Amino acid sequence: MDADVIIVGAGPAGLMLAGELCLAGVRPLVLERQPQLRETPKANGLNGQIVELLRYRGLLDRVEAASGRPVHPAPGAPFGGMQLDFSHLADPPLWAVPLPQLRLERLLGERACELGTGIRRGHEVAGVSQDHATVTADVRGPQEPYRVTARYLVGCDGAHSRVRDTAGIPFPGTTYPEVNRLGQVTVPDSMTQPGDGALDVPGLGQIRPGFTRTPRGVFAFGQLTAGGLLIQTTEDEPAESDDAPMTLTELQDSIRRVLGADLPLGEATRLSRYQFQARQAERYRDGRILLAGDAAHQFPATGIGLSVGMLDSVNLAWKLAAVIDSWAPAGLLDSYHDERHFAGARALLQTRAQVALRRGQDPAAQALRELFLELLADEQPLRRIGGLIAGTDIRYPMPAPSQQALTGTFAPDLTLHSGQGTTSVAKLMHTARPILLDLADRPEIRETARDWQHRIDIHTAGTDHRPADALLIRPDAHIAWAATTGEPAGTAATALREALWSWFGAPLKTTVPIIDRPS
Ligand SMILES: Cc1cc2nc3c(=O)[nH]c(=O)nc-3n(C[C@H](O)[C@H](O)[C@H](O)COP(=O)(O)OP(=O)(O)OC[C@H]3O[C@@H](n4cnc5c(N)ncnc54)[C@H](O)[C@@H]3O)c2cc1C
Repeated sequence: MDADVIIVGAGPAGLMLAGELCLAGVRPLVLERQPQLRETPKANGLNGQIVELLRYRGLLDRVEAASGRPVHPAPGAPFGGMQLDFSHLADPPLWAVPLPQLRLERLLGERACELGTGIRRGHEVAGVSQDHATVTADVRGPQEPYRVTARYLVGCDGAHSRVRDTAGIPFPGTTYPEVNRLGQVTVPDSMTQPGDGALDVPGLGQIRPGFTRTPRGVFAFGQLTAGGLLIQTTEDEPAESDDAPMTLTELQDSIRRVLGADLPLGEATRLSRYQFQARQAERYRDGRILLAGDAAHQFPATGIGLSVGMLDSVNLAWKLAAVIDSWAPAGLLDSYHDERHFAGARALLQTRAQVALRRGQDPAAQALRELFLELLADEQPLRRIGGLIAGTDIRYPMPAPSQQALTGTFAPDLTLHSGQGTTSVAKLMHTARPILLDLADRPEIRETARDWQHRIDIHTAGTDHRPADALLIRPDAHIAWAATTGEPAGTAATALREALWSWFGAPLKTTVPIIDRPS
């Protein structure tokens, strides 16, 4: 074997997976076809649940340093061609940090290498095959073609995934006809209004940041913290879009068609043209081949691809490591598909709804948007949509359905007090080890968990407003089991033992009779 796991693609999903696999003690090898990091005009920032997860890995300091800005509550978010306003919510539903994708990839790549990953850039995977024990990748290296073999291979090779196609995994969905053109550009100072940041367009007047609809499409812009503007046009009429690189002239022509006026543009640092797609791989696993990130899903709205894709990787890594380490309980690796396909479908639901909302200029479409905005003036629906965008509303389907509403959800970052001092759930999760957190000094719960202490860390601590008597938290920070406050010792211990068997396999010394093993 050349590695435990071959990762195809050094994008955010592949690099996150590499780091997580190293934390779980397995050897990944990353194969990336591009010879070096590229200034691809892609994501401009991170938001949603992944921001919290990065904090749970102790990475937010590095993210903030790379960004030059602190993580902050998002004052709003685009949604279906409208601008949602979260600024008046005391407890914001969405956290964000501006970070160009190139810098994110550099950061994740450095971390993966520090943890022991080998990254081979300029090595393109041309084919993949598998048998009952191994998976092999045919690689076009810079010098010559060669083969590498591993126990598993994960296709993190983006929307046009060759791994997915080679494995014969269908990728059904829709490509929407509208063409979007995006540019990070400068405009003459005389055109921007201090204060509200409005643009003074000659012959047209003032345009406020956000979305402006015209009979011919949508013009959107926002100020970038690094200076300049991020401008996007969406043309309702399907236009000829070819594979030629986007140019500043093309963006200018598109702005003229949409606004009916010329906008003088200065220098462009990023330019891209794209069509939105709504697609999801039918299966995230085919034997020893798995998919994560854009290879597994495409959303018809920007702003969530990074979060969903990197969280795929976090969910997959520890399960794959358990299988490679030979202790995974039956079905553990398949739970990757069950959980992340479910999360991807949720993301598709809200982004497809955005397509329906943003389409059309007729009075009916306008009325739909107005009504939607009216509903979102109320806090509860606004929070709900915020949670959907962030992905914080996800509750994974658990194998043994529990009355405890916390199971399957992301563990809250409780502040924890103990004889050793004060810590937090986020700090305990830096090493990505699973945790049994006894929050109510319940010796029988700790005693039950002791047989699994080679796999999990056991902590006893107090916390204000404890949500449960105890929590079993998986490496991906999701709650596998929770003891309801005051739950009788017998039922709590039995349910905990079942959860430990289901997620962490056999105990070290089988003091537990084998008959207790849940089916
Ligand atoms: C214009 C634009 C703006 C966006 N803005 C945002 C945003 O603000 N926030 C957000 O969250 N998301 C945004 N997204 C989406 C985000 O960029 C993607 O979701 C993200 O890049 C997916 O990461 P990934 O690692 O799955 O795939 P990719 O980033 O596509 O990485 C795949 C990697 O695999 C490599 N590869 C492909 N084939 C092979 C092969 N055969 N062999 C070896 N290597 C291979 C590629 O070179 C690439 O490096 C935006 C996307 C676009 C296009």
